[in-house]
Amino acid sequence: FRRNPGEVEFHQAVNEVFESLAPLTDRHPEYTDAAILQRICEPERQIIFRVPWVDDAGNVQINRGFRVEFNSALGPFKGGLRFHPSVYLGIVKFLGFEQIFKNALTGMPIGGGKGGSDFDPRGKSDAEVMRFCQSFMTELYRHIGEYTDVPAGDIGVGGREIGYLFGQYKRITNRYESGVLTGKGIGWGGSLVRPEATGYGAVLFAQEMLKTRGRSFDGQRVVVSGSGNVAINAIAKAQTLGATVVAASDSAGYIVDEAGIDVDLLRQIKEIERGRISEYAERRGSAVSYVAAGSVWDVNATVALPCATQNELDDKQAARLIENGLAAVAEGANMPCTAEATALFHEAGILFGPGKAANAGGVATSALEMQQNASRDAWTFEHTEQRLAEIMVGIHDDCAATAEEYGMPGNYVAGANISGFKKVADAMLALGVI
Ligand code: NDP
Repeated sequence: FRRNPGEVEFHQAVNEVFESLAPLTDRHPEYTDAAILQRICEPERQIIFRVPWVDDAGNVQINRGFRVEFNSALGPFKGGLRFHPSVYLGIVKFLGFEQIFKNALTGMPIGGGKGGSDFDPRGKSDAEVMRFCQSFMTELYRHIGEYTDVPAGDIGVGGREIGYLFGQYKRITNRYESGVLTGKGIGWGGSLVRPEATGYGAVLFAQEMLKTRGRSFDGQRVVVSGSGNVAINAIAKAQTLGATVVAASDSAGYIVDEAGIDVDLLRQIKEIERGRISEYAERRGSAVSYVAAGSVWDVNATVALPCATQNELDDKQAARLIENGLAAVAEGANMPCTAEATALFHEAGILFGPGKAANAGGVATSALEMQQNASRDAWTFEHTEQRLAEIMVGIHDDCAATAEEYGMPGNYVAGANISGFKKVADAMLALGVI
């Protein structure tokens, strides 16, 4: 902690992993002997840079850019870029740290990293977003590559931003190196199913958890937080499986639509018009309510899918949800439940899928995009979705079996942390002290 002052989210993420590891390190003293725990907390490389750009009014703006290359024992660094005003080193490191174990759980040859900027794309014109992305890539390009470090999207970075970033990378390097970024558009090296993958994957993971109690999504009352990429696709998948998703949110408030959210309308407002969720209530009519500034976790659910941001669901909200019949939680976002909320879910016997397992479908499909780029191929939607489904079932079963093996049956947090850590630690041991 003294070495990384003020990085509270990073400390929280490290604590959450290390609390699970005692049964593993007891059985494997070689990890302690080789200082794997200390080494795994120290990024291989951290890059912090100035991002100057000119806004539409002609004013010079300055943001800060980050790329934390955390661990490449299993493959090139891999993880998204987040553009949000809250971004600072502690957030990037928490996300990069989580990414190491998540990527290991996918079984794909990818290491862990994360990056981003305190730039806020909301309210900016397309031209401003393009100039920012070009400036950001003008520094980042020298650090990344298909065999080195492969960024993707995250909060505030979707297809538009990846396009501008890829365009500038191609221009500076004079290489059409498709595999340097994932989340690309379908017409220029992207993979079908990548946009849907994180949200779909979280629902598939939840479905596997529900099956262990003889239940399914059919008839569940679902609440989703956020209304971005992960949230919208989680809503779509849950409703395809027979659930009714009654609420969703953005950072300004939430909507309740007891009839089930109209996904096409939500996509139109959020993805095409880049509008606010309040507009959904205005257009859908009086049956839908909009609550400004409240928490979507005040709405009762049998399945909760937090898909917005870190630490958005606390112990008070967890206790209320449990009291009102909650059966399962799958984290579409990274670390959306506080440590206290997670503890309450475990005490109450609620099925709980942690983000590093439940939302791994996005990065797994990014690895499938890299495979398609490397072989200059383009797979069908059905084939790619089938691969995603197999990967999610595999991650679920791996976490469940590992939790069982280490004496904590049903504890997916312990299963994910132990299994992910073990894969990375074994590779680090094999590669020597580097
Ligand atoms: P988007 O930018 O597409 O959407 C984010 C959503 O969350 C928006 O509705 C946004 O509302 C809301 N939100 C963001 N920050 C806050 C905040 N501080 N308080 C309240 N609401 C907030 O991002 P994604 O859907 O891509 O990412 C969502 C989560 O999923 C993140 O935790 C991300 O790390 C994680 N994730 C994403 C993956 C992906 O493939 N995209 C892969 C794995 C994990 P508003 O528009 O008002 O800001």
